[in-house]
Amino acid sequence: MPSQQKPIVLTDATRSQCDSFHRSLLKWFDANQRDLPWRKKKTPYRIWVSEIMLQQTQVATVIDYYLRFMKQFPTVKKLAAADESEVLKLWEGLGYYRRARQLHAAAKIVVKEHKGKFPQQFDEVLALPGIGRYTAGAILSISLDQPHPILEGNTVRLFARLTELRDNPKISASQKQLWKFSESLVPTKRAGDFNQALMELGSKVCTPKSPKCEDCPVIRFCPTFRNALQDKIPAASTKIKYENLHEAVVLVSKPAGKSKLKFLVRLCGPNERWTGLWDFPRFEIDSNKNAEVDLEQKLHSQCGLEGQIEPTKVQLKHAVTKYRITLDVYRCEKVQGRLKRTRNETFRWSDSQELAALPMSITGRKIADRCCENGI
Ligand code: SF4
Repeated sequence: MPSQQKPIVLTDATRSQCDSFHRSLLKWFDANQRDLPWRKKKTPYRIWVSEIMLQQTQVATVIDYYLRFMKQFPTVKKLAAADESEVLKLWEGLGYYRRARQLHAAAKIVVKEHKGKFPQQFDEVLALPGIGRYTAGAILSISLDQPHPILEGNTVRLFARLTELRDNPKISASQKQLWKFSESLVPTKRAGDFNQALMELGSKVCTPKSPKCEDCPVIRFCPTFRNALQDKIPAASTKIKYENLHEAVVLVSKPAGKSKLKFLVRLCGPNERWTGLWDFPRFEIDSNKNAEVDLEQKLHSQCGLEGQIEPTKVQLKHAVTKYRITLDVYRCEKVQGRLKRTRNETFRWSDSQELAALPMSITGRKIADRCCENGI
């Protein structure tokens, strides 16, 4: 820290000290901000889509998805008029599919209740599905420069360090304190750039491990740096306890002429892991039973089909929320019986071309590409 600059305690700062913080941060942002597609034209719709995609997802992953999505749905009206399966297909691989379904539902509300114009009042934005306090503030500040505070992963860490917060930042008392701090900081001018600058600083400089304090434009405002507490703040929160699951998918196939095969897939219903996406019949494996016999019984009781189940050499490992899943792939050819048709179950037979067009879970897509295309 340059010796002529006195440390400033932000929680107790005067107006001119806050102004100085704003200037330092914005100057750094102007020189260092990344060139991102949603920063080119900041309309509420474009910022909204980017913010939803960026939840729980890295910027580098989002860019291509964002560009494809905007090409297909350049306006909220186009998004509202689309089929949910079209929206999910564009979201395929991005995960957390509830975000896509809620984005689509919210687009319909914008068209129906706001004549296709994204609302500009904070409470109206907050009332849309999938939009919480952070997202509403981010959309309105970034696209319209409204002075709303924000608090998300990067800013939680940055604010915890700027306020020398010793408690776990995830507990509700800390969250209240951090929101208050964010409210006290947000400027009346360039609020959008300021909020983006905070997040960018958190992600690029004030990183979880080994923050680059020597490059930090607000170092003289930082008590965590002064007291060398970067490794202790933010306080570690309790680790997620992962659960192991062992599951199986069955590639049930039937001939479809010209040496082609059709495979049985089902639409995941409400409250399932991948609502609205297609997956191969998937079952939990009971380790006390013979897997093939168990799966034959399950296939019969749940799908109405009979056939001999055989293991393949394909095993995938993947994670969904707190679950660590080992997935064994089986095949079942020459099926007999009649496919069960119930109100709660939607099955269809699809060849590999049709499978390519369906929105599928990440593992469903891997299996379709690896097993259905080439045979197993
Ligand atoms: Fe983070 Fe270091 Fe900047 Fe403090 S000085 S805000 S710890 S990067």
